Amino acid sequence: MQPAVVWDPALLGYDLGGDHPFNPVRLQLTISLATELGVLDDVPLLVPEPAGDGELLRIHSPEYLEAVRQAPMAGWDVGHGLGTADNPVFSGMHDATALVVGSSLLAAQKIATGEARRAVNIAGGLHHAMRDHAAGFCVYNDCAVAISWLLDHGFDRIAYVDTDVHHGDGVQAAFYDDPRVLTISLHQHPFTLWPGTGYSGEAGAGEAEGSAVNIPLPPHTRDPGWLRAFHAIVPSLLAEFRPQILVTQCGVDSHEEDPLADLSLSVDGHRTIYTTLRGLAEQYAGGKWLAVGGGGYQLIRVVPRSWTHLLATVLDRDVKPETPIPPGWADLVRKAAPNAELPTAMTDGAETAHQAWGDGADDPVDIAIRDTRRAIFPLHGLDPDDPRD
Ligand SMILES: [Zn+2]
Repeated sequence: MQPAVVWDPALLGYDLGGDHPFNPVRLQLTISLATELGVLDDVPLLVPEPAGDGELLRIHSPEYLEAVRQAPMAGWDVGHGLGTADNPVFSGMHDATALVVGSSLLAAQKIATGEARRAVNIAGGLHHAMRDHAAGFCVYNDCAVAISWLLDHGFDRIAYVDTDVHHGDGVQAAFYDDPRVLTISLHQHPFTLWPGTGYSGEAGAGEAEGSAVNIPLPPHTRDPGWLRAFHAIVPSLLAEFRPQILVTQCGVDSHEEDPLADLSLSVDGHRTIYTTLRGLAEQYAGGKWLAVGGGGYQLIRVVPRSWTHLLATVLDRDVKPETPIPPGWADLVRKAAPNAELPTAMTDGAETAHQAWGDGADDPVDIAIRDTRRAIFPLHGLDPDDPRD
């Protein structure tokens, strides 16, 4: 059964304009690179429709939808987080964002109907959008809408794993009191990065206590530390929660060269994360894996390579790290950005092997691991101090 890949050049219409960092060229360069490498050979690209109001209202308020619709015609003070430097108003904003949501919905639907076990939408991942306001470049929350739709279509245990460098606050907020959705976010520590949430003590509310999991990592954490923290926490929780589907937000702004944040991952680390997520979906979620994009602002050197690895991983067409950058892609980029320094291969040459947690080390990553395990593991009947759990 072939994985579903959602893509339509119309998704480039989610364009915040000017020199805003969320530049859709990153998607175009990803699709071009994946195509040049043959990753998308014979793969039908599924064309999405914009999500209707009924779907958007699963997560957002009617007042907010109206504000987004009216914003391009309104005056300067539209409220709802719109018209700010982060979330500028642009013409056709409602339709463009509804199309992003529609793409993640289409991906979710392909899995729910059994037409695909895996689906990917690199244009998705707008994880900061809140019920009543835009935030962090995100107008509507496609991740939350897709999860809500899945809850109404046969899924009642959904695990969401967010590897973006920023806290997945909008998705956490949407399901904070819903025990059917386990949200796990690994991100740079909130002391040091917007949105300033995602502490290990944020664990969910009421009967959902334990269903929000946050792993705040110190700035400059590299691949081995990130993977050490991931493996110390995520597999045990998935084994215990037994999700029917794994939904992942795969932001790549955790890369060392990303201009907006300070984690120090590599393209090799990203590739390892994707193969790990695929393995966990197979092991714990019946093979069902919905992957969406997210942040990522090194538009030329990082996003296209990392998300080509994501597409390849979803399609079981893994690209070897040492694969050279195809000349056709390099020519395309040089025409558009003559001064850009291009990568030469699908690797950063980084070391990604990690030590398993529980070896007695106590560096800042280990402090984060211990805090999160102690906040969460007892709520799942797991022992926070036992490395076997
Ligand atoms: Zn981000």
